Amino acid sequence: MARVVSGIRPTGKLHLGNYFGAVKSFLKMQEEHECFFFIADIHSLTTHPTPQDLHNNVHQVLAEHLAMGIDVDKCAMFIQSDVPAISELYTYMNMNAYIGELERSVTYKEKKNSQPKNINAGLLTYPVLMAVDILVHHGDFVPVGKDQQQHLEMTRTFANRFNHMYGTDYFKEPQAYSNTGELVKVPGLTGQGKMSKSSGDADTIVFDEEESVIRKKIMRAKTDAGPTEPGQKKSEELQNLFDIMELVSDASTIAHFDDLHQNATIRYGDLKKQLADDVVNFVAPIRERIVHFKNDKEALAKAAKIGAEKANESAVKTLKEVREIIGFKKFY
Ligand code: AMP
Repeated sequence: MARVVSGIRPTGKLHLGNYFGAVKSFLKMQEEHECFFFIADIHSLTTHPTPQDLHNNVHQVLAEHLAMGIDVDKCAMFIQSDVPAISELYTYMNMNAYIGELERSVTYKEKKNSQPKNINAGLLTYPVLMAVDILVHHGDFVPVGKDQQQHLEMTRTFANRFNHMYGTDYFKEPQAYSNTGELVKVPGLTGQGKMSKSSGDADTIVFDEEESVIRKKIMRAKTDAGPTEPGQKKSEELQNLFDIMELVSDASTIAHFDDLHQNATIRYGDLKKQLADDVVNFVAPIRERIVHFKNDKEALAKAAKIGAEKANESAVKTLKEVREIIGFKKFY
């Protein structure tokens, strides 16, 4: 069975874009492959979170993923820092990563510009840790967005370099996992394209948020001045709302508002109210489960423990083999 490795960034609460763009594919992959999904808490240290924020964020995403249907009996969902072998392998792999190539990483260059006061060594060697996340489990496939293609390429470089250096074929090259056509890009509410935390709070529909807040955000979503004549093309802002409807509303509801728009008799207030109802109905049961899991310490502990056991079993085996290949021999 193919092994899939994917990271989860512990940065705040999940929104509709995360669900349709990532979590849904996790749910499918856990049925079909041997999956390692890790909450990347070591990676997140590059942003210097307080201990409380770090823990709260990990707690949040763990509860959210369980609430959304990640099944710890079907996959290994683990917290990166629960697997010390990752940090050890990271140390070894850093010796074979060259400063020049790391400096050429697009994400490093971006971070250098966006956070000039915190260009730490962890940012520079971020691709090494990413490579280790994959290689430590001998991952075959990694679901990667466009911005991470280069990191996957670097993972292959590091794997091959290790093999070449030690005259072995120990690490294999991981491939990009193709979610052909399954993943949708969820637009945001502020009319700026993809739903994203970085576009501000008003842009996102967050699962773990009060119903009243969700309604308010949708009622304030950006639209246009309204069609002035029948058959007019939808503006981007309006199309965004219809695209979100595609995800949460009945086909008949969408057709109804489509007709009203075609006839130029649509009232955006009605459309938004309907969309708010449908979003709230979609979000409510998941939100209830999130609240449940967040408070269920026993379930969280059990899930984290099962994940850690599975991940450690795989990672410790790799590390033992790597140590032998490198030439660490015990004298005792
Ligand atoms: P982020 O919240 O940026 O850490 O994203 C986590 C995952 O959710 C990534 O795999 C993204 O590709 C996915 N994602 C985030 N926002 C969207 C969106 N608006 N539409 C589709 N996928 C998204």
